[in-house]
Amino acid sequence: MSKYWSDFVHQLEPYVPGEQPKMSKLVKLNTNEHPLGPSPKVLEVIRGEADERLRLYPDPDSSQLKEAIASYYGVQRDQVFVGNGSDEVLAHLFLGFFKQDKPLLFPDITYSFYKVYCGLYQIDYEAVPLDGELAIAVDDYLKPNGGIIFPNPNAPTGRLLPLSEIERLLQANTESLVVVDEAYIDFGGESAISLINRYPNLLVTQTLSKSRSLAGLRIGLAVGDAALIDGLNRIKDSFNSYPLDRIAIAAGAAAFEDREWFDKGCELVISQRDWLDGELDKRGFESLPSAANFLFTRHPQHSGESLAKGLREQGVIVRHFGKPERIADYLRITVGTPEQNQALIETLDTLL
Ligand SMILES: *Cc1c(COP(=O)(O)O)cnc(C)c1O
Repeated sequence: MSKYWSDFVHQLEPYVPGEQPKMSKLVKLNTNEHPLGPSPKVLEVIRGEADERLRLYPDPDSSQLKEAIASYYGVQRDQVFVGNGSDEVLAHLFLGFFKQDKPLLFPDITYSFYKVYCGLYQIDYEAVPLDGELAIAVDDYLKPNGGIIFPNPNAPTGRLLPLSEIERLLQANTESLVVVDEAYIDFGGESAISLINRYPNLLVTQTLSKSRSLAGLRIGLAVGDAALIDGLNRIKDSFNSYPLDRIAIAAGAAAFEDREWFDKGCELVISQRDWLDGELDKRGFESLPSAANFLFTRHPQHSGESLAKGLREQGVIVRHFGKPERIADYLRITVGTPEQNQALIETLDTLL
């Protein structure tokens, strides 16, 4: 604390990211990173970019990356926005679209950064409770609002909302913006990007941190009506006109071009998720159906806290949120490599 802080800094409640431990040899299943490394083609592009051109500012429009994304999804380049991680894209869109008279709606159990941005930008919000199965019920969002945002699949539950339900929401909610945060969509869902030409009230965000295994590079994107993208560009150019560096622009484009590596990585995660789900089930765990690269699970005889602590003592790190009460006994376990998943199960066997 310092007397030089602006008043509002005292009021902020910052996001607490999952731990990035310095020790090696840990089985790290706590922040939903991809078990497979990035595409070798991406790494080759990164090496090729590391030369004297780093003296120059990058393309402020990140055209090469937008081109690759537009072509991957069959949309126009002016329907694409990119940022330094999807967290930055989210920060811009909260400021640009959600500062309204009516409250922003999002699930009570969801990505905890949403609440943090509301604090940062003084946005009024209402947390809408998930239903009894910890699922998003679209009907609960059909009321006056200044915007709606949720991840699909939701985090940390992993539950997927079908595209038909998202479309129903878009049809009923035309007076405010609906943002679908698709950080995990590639692990089992169908992207709502296919709906953007029909719904100007829809914005979809994605990240290269999860399914494209590039969390260390920080690349995120939004796809929607060109007028929405225009609004985001106005914010970006009032904040930092060069958010993506030269290396990230080229590497991000290469990641979208290497479909083969991407498909292989997603298939590995999905098959390992199924395996892990089965093994947990055999041991009495109750897991929510997941379309993401993690499982949200609990054991009827063991508290979430004791399991997380027991795993940690043996070098296996998973995420335990503790709050709210309703999810206090759940663990969020990232799907790792076959070896990591095996180690997790063996360690659990010593604890149960
Ligand atoms: C990981 C995650 C993000 C942030 O992704 P970055 O691009 O790494 O900033 C956004 N939303 C959800 C739901 C996430 O899980």
